[in-house]
Amino acid sequence: MNRQIMEQYRKSDQYYIDEYDRTTIEELKKIEKLMEKAEKRFFIDEDDPKSPETNTDYIGYRMRYLDTGVEYSRNKESSIRAAIQSDERKDRLIRFHAIPANILCDTCGEDMKFELHDFLQRDSDLIFIFSCPNGHLPKKAVYPNGREYFLPKHTCKYCGSDLVSKKKKTKKKLTLTDTCKVCGKVEVLELDISPRKILPVDEEERKKYCTDFKGRNNFMEDLKRIAELGKFTEVDDNKKKYEFDKVKKLNLPQLEQTLTAQIEKSGFIKLQFDKPKTSRYLTMEFSAQDPTDREPEKSIKALKRTIDTTLFHTNWRLMSPGIDYKLGFLSGQLKGFSLDEDILKIAQEIWEKENK
Ligand SMILES: [Zn+2]
Ligand SMILES: [Zn+2]
Repeated sequence: MNRQIMEQYRKSDQYYIDEYDRTTIEELKKIEKLMEKAEKRFFIDEDDPKSPETNTDYIGYRMRYLDTGVEYSRNKESSIRAAIQSDERKDRLIRFHAIPANILCDTCGEDMKFELHDFLQRDSDLIFIFSCPNGHLPKKAVYPNGREYFLPKHTCKYCGSDLVSKKKKTKKKLTLTDTCKVCGKVEVLELDISPRKILPVDEEERKKYCTDFKGRNNFMEDLKRIAELGKFTEVDDNKKKYEFDKVKKLNLPQLEQTLTAQIEKSGFIKLQFDKPKTSRYLTMEFSAQDPTDREPEKSIKALKRTIDTTLFHTNWRLMSPGIDYKLGFLSGQLKGFSLDEDILKIAQEIWEKENK
């Protein structure tokens, strides 16, 4: 019973949060150090337009710092959940599987003593560790079904032959040296076994490296947002500046009505429109007649001035090359704008003319 409590894998929720935040803080501090070092070397040579490009370490680290922080923050919940589930599974497996009986020492044949549960790293299978009451080594690792687990045999990665392994242990370091019996190649593995002092998470650091990244954009997302924001405010600013709302948007019947009234005041009659063509704009031919004896040029000029003046504050424009005249019959083309983008240009044109 006591052993069960001792071997409880599932810890308090706060434990997992702290573990995760500790890793986050450690990682971000590493990048931060690199970033600070690079910042000292960073400078932009005003005389050399390419200088920031040749000095991108600092910017690179800054990007990495932000992206790493954001990534840790985004993965926090799922990682913690996975860690908790894994530990709960271990507890379940321990509760579910009885300790295998009749495990005998290969040296003296004595019934071995159950020592502790363990989990294989590879697939987190449950194994039971047994030791000989007479102290014979090695200990035995056994699956729940009683089958013995053997550590995968380590062989020389150059020639596949057997290795001679040596262990050297100091207070802080475990050094494993494998020497091949055939080719003599040596592999050394050093493990840090210094007792890890687990300090409580510093709350200021937790805020800076963990909490403050919550809901933040990573570098690319930030860039995109800024670009969009810039576009948006630029259009908005221009709409305000050029008094976008003052452009009168006339639909076709309104155009016809307005124009007819005005050209008649200038002595023209019978304004007519052809069938309009739709694209980004609405374009169409129009015609009018001049019953007076005006010279063709004067007639053209009068009609052009009337149309230009009438349409100036609207979303309609006379198209080039302008107006044609033959025997009192005048014709030309009109263009109507409906997109904000185009109307903004008209607003700007009006504004520029009126603010000269
Ligand atoms: Zn024994
Ligand atoms: Zn070898």
